[in-house]
Amino acid sequence: MTSKPAAAAARATVYGYPRQGQNRELKKAIEGYWKGRVSADALRSTAAELRRDNWRDLAGADVDEVPTGDFSYYDHVLDTTIMVGAIPDRHRDAVAADPLDGYFAMARGTQDVAPLEMTKWFDTNYHYLVPELGPDTVFTADSGKQAAELGEALALGLAARPVLVGPVTYLLLAKPAPGVAAGFDPLTLLDRLLPVYAEIISDLRAAGAEWVQLDEPALVQDRTPAQLSAAERAYRYLGDLTDRPRLLVASYFDRLGEALPILAKAPVDGLALDFTEAAAANLEALAAVGGLPGKRLVAGVVNGRNIWANDLTASLATLGTLLGLADRVDVAASCSLLHVPLDTAAERDIEPGILRWLAFARQKTAEIVTLAKGLAHGTGAITAELSANRAHLASRATSRITRDPAVRARAAAVTEADTRRSQPYTERAAAQRARLGLPLLPTTTIGSFPQTTQLRGARADLRAGLIDGAAYEERIKAEIQEVVSFQEKTGLDVLVHGEPERNDMVQYFAEQLTGYLATQHGWVQSYGTRYVRPPILAGDISRPGPMTVRWTAYAQSLTDRPVKGMLTGPVTMLAWSFVRDDRPLGDTARQVALALRDEVNDLQAAGTPVIQVDEPALRETLPLRIAGRAAYLAWATEAFRLTTGQSRPGTQIHTHMCYAEFGDIVQAIDDLDADVISLEAARSHMQVARELAGHGYPREAGPGVYDIHSPRVPSTQEAADLLRTGLKAIPAERLWVNPDCGLKTRGWPETRASLENLVAAARAVREELPSC
Ligand code: GLN
Ligand code: ZN
Repeated sequence: MTSKPAAAAARATVYGYPRQGQNRELKKAIEGYWKGRVSADALRSTAAELRRDNWRDLAGADVDEVPTGDFSYYDHVLDTTIMVGAIPDRHRDAVAADPLDGYFAMARGTQDVAPLEMTKWFDTNYHYLVPELGPDTVFTADSGKQAAELGEALALGLAARPVLVGPVTYLLLAKPAPGVAAGFDPLTLLDRLLPVYAEIISDLRAAGAEWVQLDEPALVQDRTPAQLSAAERAYRYLGDLTDRPRLLVASYFDRLGEALPILAKAPVDGLALDFTEAAAANLEALAAVGGLPGKRLVAGVVNGRNIWANDLTASLATLGTLLGLADRVDVAASCSLLHVPLDTAAERDIEPGILRWLAFARQKTAEIVTLAKGLAHGTGAITAELSANRAHLASRATSRITRDPAVRARAAAVTEADTRRSQPYTERAAAQRARLGLPLLPTTTIGSFPQTTQLRGARADLRAGLIDGAAYEERIKAEIQEVVSFQEKTGLDVLVHGEPERNDMVQYFAEQLTGYLATQHGWVQSYGTRYVRPPILAGDISRPGPMTVRWTAYAQSLTDRPVKGMLTGPVTMLAWSFVRDDRPLGDTARQVALALRDEVNDLQAAGTPVIQVDEPALRETLPLRIAGRAAYLAWATEAFRLTTGQSRPGTQIHTHMCYAEFGDIVQAIDDLDADVISLEAARSHMQVARELAGHGYPREAGPGVYDIHSPRVPSTQEAADLLRTGLKAIPAERLWVNPDCGLKTRGWPETRASLENLVAAARAVREELPSC
């Protein structure tokens, strides 16, 4: 097809790299700047150094083309908002007064102005700031950041490619600005936005860009014909510009689907596709359109969002198939390496043999370079790498960690009956009523109480060896006493122990389950300067012993009121971890569910009358494309029911989810068969109560009456009004009174005052109920 073998040109590249630096220097500098301890100049120079380190890292590893513009002080979608001048009116003065402070005001808000809303970037745990657009939005080009960062990389003598959020994805991620009708479709602004992109692209050309990458991950979701034709229009327009750099349109996280033929035909110069999970579908679609003659194909064969070593032999085979389908095939990670930690070498606590199964950003970069070399020069050029890789994969496949026969056998023996409680809800409800003796409109909380600096300090002291296990245990017990006595005094009906012993609701369990790995330095950006260290689901999961019973039982020993046990559900245990790539997710969920099922049983045996299994992540791991959702929801709800399936009729099972919009999964929520569900509702004025009622939800629910995302104390009146609104949708026999979510991020003073008001509101509204 091409005169020169495509393979000879194969180059290695990535779309983005972890931003924080080896020791999270960026976090420290930014937070120092917020506190006034670091000057703007010092922050800028730290940032510039980190960018330079990343480029040197990449170039040193023999990456041929480095990305630029992927760096961000907070979020790359916010950077795009600045780039196209879509600054909300309420932030304009701040941005005009000081661009850096204005930028942070948009991200975090100030005393007087609310920040932009934050939400998940596709199905990852990275959060972006949602653009706010309206019919009056005026876009203006500001290529300053992009051009400057390109300049920095070029000055190092590197081949560099600016990476931008594409115009279609930008608009599809936006929402109507406050005050704009909810029906407003930001995509109607496309024709206004395109000339601004044209200007930016031309500025980048002037600044020396040979290629510019436009990321369009939104096109891997199900799209309407109108949205697809917008994509077609956009890339015809940008492609037809004269005197432009070459354009690479990148997609990731799933197959491009209907958008692939559109982009293949568009007058752009290259496409980047995800050849990890979406490999088969993308390959097939690519072959169906006759390949990409005359275009560059960037093949994302190294998974950019998991932490497993690549199967180099399999990737080479994929790349080999692609060779005939494009003018030139380059090798990349499937998406930005922003979603993985920096370097496995920092993990001293993981056994070397196991560490070799893993690949973080640096290791993935090396894999990409190896694959590009293999593609260009044949496998003979990478024999050593291939054989080492085969050995690591084999050691993983045959390890006792990844295959525990007892766990496999138990999971295989699960039957439908194991996932069903012995009695239907109505009978269980009667047994629970008799056992618990709760008033109408019972009050409870979601689980955690304030995680004070003293608590965190105690954990740090334990880790540092400054206090021993016994002393730590005493600290936790003292905290539980406080929390229990406060709840009794305040008059809450179903108490909790407050979760003081938990560093994080997933990590706490991961550390106690066999088959999970913890990292010491595996930080990944969640949002802004918040980084998390997701545990790694490395092997078959089992529970060596009870994980929570001690604390729950201790709390119960202090009071006559029912204490609610607290577990993190199987779906959330997967969603906030790095998952296996060698087993279906549903299998792992089932193993985790069986471990949690044993915990439920141990809690029951210890006399725990109420058990809450939190599933705040149920909705966020919903597959991007509708076609995948039914299968996901089937294993997800099965795993929850398997966790709770052996609970006795008199054990009341609660679940909790913290989101207000759950329209797409209300049936799945019903399928969990939990006796009680608590949900976020305060800000949306009980919208969820109406939605549950509209669905005919038959069990008990606690739509939150206290917004815990703010330090504001809701008045008794306010909480009572919300409760009355809730009663219009859900009858008093099935309505609970609780906050929106856990209280771990709150301080004690506001927590105290708010819960007192919540209890007072429940009492006031109970008085208004007709006596039966
Ligand atoms: N039980 C947990 C808590 O209260 C639930 C947290 C969550 O929903 N994210 O902290
Ligand atoms: Zn929550």
